[in-house]
Amino acid sequence: MKLVVIGGVAAGMSTAARARRLDEAAEIVVLEKSHHVSFANCGLPYHIGGVIKDRDRLLLQTPESLKESLNLDVRIGQEVLAIDPKKKTVKVRDLDSGREYTEKYDKLAYCVGAEAMRPPINGLDLPGVHVLRRIGDMDQIKTKVDAALQEQVDGKRKDVRAVVVGAGYIGLEMAENLAHLGVKVSVVELADQILPPIDKDMSIPVENYLRGRGIELHLSTAAAAIAQTGQKLSVELNSGTMLEADLVIMSAGVRPMNQLAKAAGIELGSFGGIKVDEHMRTNFEDIYAAGDVVETPHTVLPGEYLAPLAGPANRQGRVAAENICGRKTTYGSTQGTSIVKVFDMVAGGTGATEKQLIKLGVKYHKIHVHPSGHAGYYPGTSTMHIKLLFDGKGKILGAQVCGFDGVDKRLDVFATALRAGMKVSELQNLELSYAPPFGSAKDPVNMAGFVATNVLSGDIKLWQAEEYPDATAGTKLVDVRTKDEYDIWHIPGAENVPLATFREAVGSWDKNMPIRLYCGVGFRSYLAYRILVQLGFKDVQTLSGGSTTFRYVQEVSGETESIPAPVLNYAETASLFKQTPVFSGKSIDLDCTGLACPGPIMKLSKEIAGLSAGDQITVHVSDPGFANDGPAWCAKNGHELVELVPEGSGYAATIRKGGPGALVAAQSTVGMAPVKNKTSFVVFSGDLDKLIAAFIIANGALAMGEEVSMFFTFWGLNALRKQNPPKRKMKAMEKMFAKMMPSGPDALTLSNMNMGGMGTQMIKSVMKQHNVQTLPELMKAAMDNGARIIGCTMTMDLLGIAPTDLLDNVEFGGVASFLGEAAESQTTLFI
Ligand code: FAD
Repeated sequence: MKLVVIGGVAAGMSTAARARRLDEAAEIVVLEKSHHVSFANCGLPYHIGGVIKDRDRLLLQTPESLKESLNLDVRIGQEVLAIDPKKKTVKVRDLDSGREYTEKYDKLAYCVGAEAMRPPINGLDLPGVHVLRRIGDMDQIKTKVDAALQEQVDGKRKDVRAVVVGAGYIGLEMAENLAHLGVKVSVVELADQILPPIDKDMSIPVENYLRGRGIELHLSTAAAAIAQTGQKLSVELNSGTMLEADLVIMSAGVRPMNQLAKAAGIELGSFGGIKVDEHMRTNFEDIYAAGDVVETPHTVLPGEYLAPLAGPANRQGRVAAENICGRKTTYGSTQGTSIVKVFDMVAGGTGATEKQLIKLGVKYHKIHVHPSGHAGYYPGTSTMHIKLLFDGKGKILGAQVCGFDGVDKRLDVFATALRAGMKVSELQNLELSYAPPFGSAKDPVNMAGFVATNVLSGDIKLWQAEEYPDATAGTKLVDVRTKDEYDIWHIPGAENVPLATFREAVGSWDKNMPIRLYCGVGFRSYLAYRILVQLGFKDVQTLSGGSTTFRYVQEVSGETESIPAPVLNYAETASLFKQTPVFSGKSIDLDCTGLACPGPIMKLSKEIAGLSAGDQITVHVSDPGFANDGPAWCAKNGHELVELVPEGSGYAATIRKGGPGALVAAQSTVGMAPVKNKTSFVVFSGDLDKLIAAFIIANGALAMGEEVSMFFTFWGLNALRKQNPPKRKMKAMEKMFAKMMPSGPDALTLSNMNMGGMGTQMIKSVMKQHNVQTLPELMKAAMDNGARIIGCTMTMDLLGIAPTDLLDNVEFGGVASFLGEAAESQTTLFI
């Protein structure tokens, strides 16, 4: 038997190797187009990032080693040009010599993989635009990045910038690895979320975290065109934003390489992948296919799907080989288990996602739990988010997990349970390994099983975050968290009845009144739920996943007014929030790692009570939710957030205790605040003439070597608006404001003599005649020269302006940001 395998990586090499192990007499030829076989594509981003230092570690085998160990005839640089199923031959070109020849086969394995999608964008062929599929792609990217970074070290360039198009696994791995090297990375994604294989509510924690690590995300946005401008590339987004880049990585998905198969009459499936039977056989008796190029049945959903993943490719190759060698082995299905690490965070899923179930009209239940990765008292843990999908009989349909420690093991337990057809009730009984560094006596998987089983048994009734506000209309909405937590943030319309006083309070409540409960993650509200139903309350429901899930779901849709979107902005800049450290001189450290919110806030509250105004406390938190809660708690309690910087899975926050004493301390130490050569502005006006004046002064100050900081508030914010911001859901009031207010510097008018727009046109034309820069040009010059442009988050809230409505380089801050800037300035102007 002569087996010819086209493609010499995951599926192809698995086929060839397994075939040899089953048939020592077979002649096995592997034809590989590139000059490497059996290399580790999954490791490519990590060599670029310097994590895998030795390039050779990615080259797992060579033709020589495969000849020696498996007696395979592996030919590299050989491109198969055509397949003739009738004659049972393939036409091959030796890419180095150009020689073409025909190779006969008895059995053929078509394992050519997938290729990167090329969206219809002008400029894809420019030398700085790359895909990452093969060793050669990796070498090109690495050479370019290393050279650019060296130029930066040599002082020949300011920074190195990359734009990654596509926020799937490969895109995000590239973003992380480039950022590790010191490259400034922007990720552009057409969908309204990153990581398409998980649901949006589960992608939000990862998005927040990425922003907190300095990665700029442009969601619901397409790259429209790429152009070369001098040494740099400019990437134009459909939002009108232009991104400057030294290199662009295209990772907008892959599609099966079906061209040869199609030409040979091999049948394709509905996604363009090769149609195979359970033995990985195509419509031709002697032609098999495996890997990224095939469509296979889904473990949960009806129909066949593409699943470009290494595990399935290897397993399919093995199945193909067994059948080629005369066995009757079946492949079964692919459940699409996948996982990604971005910096310290990990996210993944298995089985169906909620969006797939909705699309196909499959009925399901869902629960969310937010346990910690391992025992909270043992260092190094953080909150984990789990979403479990199951049907009315308890069959697991899908699971998604994101967090920091122990995500992979939970995901794999769910994947195994799903593959075994287990029910959620069986998750309760899994006996999983436990010691404090690894888990909890009730493992997160057990906990998901408990909650899901409670749902099915009717021990708990859930309401879901996306059902708000309908789910709570006409009900008594009760927040059973502590007063501190409630004060930081609560769902609009909720009243606070802390669990500690709950039994006492409910005595006077009407038992027929519908009650909707929630807490931080769903546990305390479950206890409250059980109290109420056992007291005879008729209509009680509790929020799945508590306010943690609610905030992820609702912040995205932007439906609720009092969700503190601006607070998120503290997590959006790399050095998140800084102001002049004027303090009493006393500073202490507080370790809150391992505590999930509200733990850190409560410990902080207690500790700060013992300090005097003006003292500072640096709190170390592993729960990433602190990026939201910490600043809000400070603002609420009159403390100053001096600095919030990423640390491990969470943050280190330095907080200065507020109060009258702090003011005195601040005043008495003003002399210590370093006054810099800086001019700061409050830009309140949205009048064209005043804005021009402001930016002319700002550019003048920059030219004289001063630092410039401009705090935009009220009508001034209109100058920062994008002309075509990315689309988002807006409330009626926000829509009205957006329509009524000028969008961007070009739409501003004069404060006097506007004369229905005539005056404005006249002044623009006079400025042109006198070679005065336009307002957009003045603004760009100021930003390019380092002016800090800060949008006032409070006004943004009032006017319904989202961060994505404003220019990309805008930072966000409140009055404290401005005061911090002003304290450092010699001159402060109010425009
Ligand atoms: P490939 O591995 O793509 O191999 C196909 C081979 O066929 C190629 O070498 C190609 O040159 C050759 N070929 C194509 N046409 C011809 C022709 N006409 N003649 C001869 N040879 C031809 N998956 C995961 O599960 N986890 C991960 O972490 C992960 N990370 C990844 C990171 C990167 C950067 C990339 C690119 C992929 C990653 N994947 C990951 C996906 C995984 O690598 C693929 O699913 C897997 O390699 C598919 O195997 P395959 O054999 O079908 O295709």
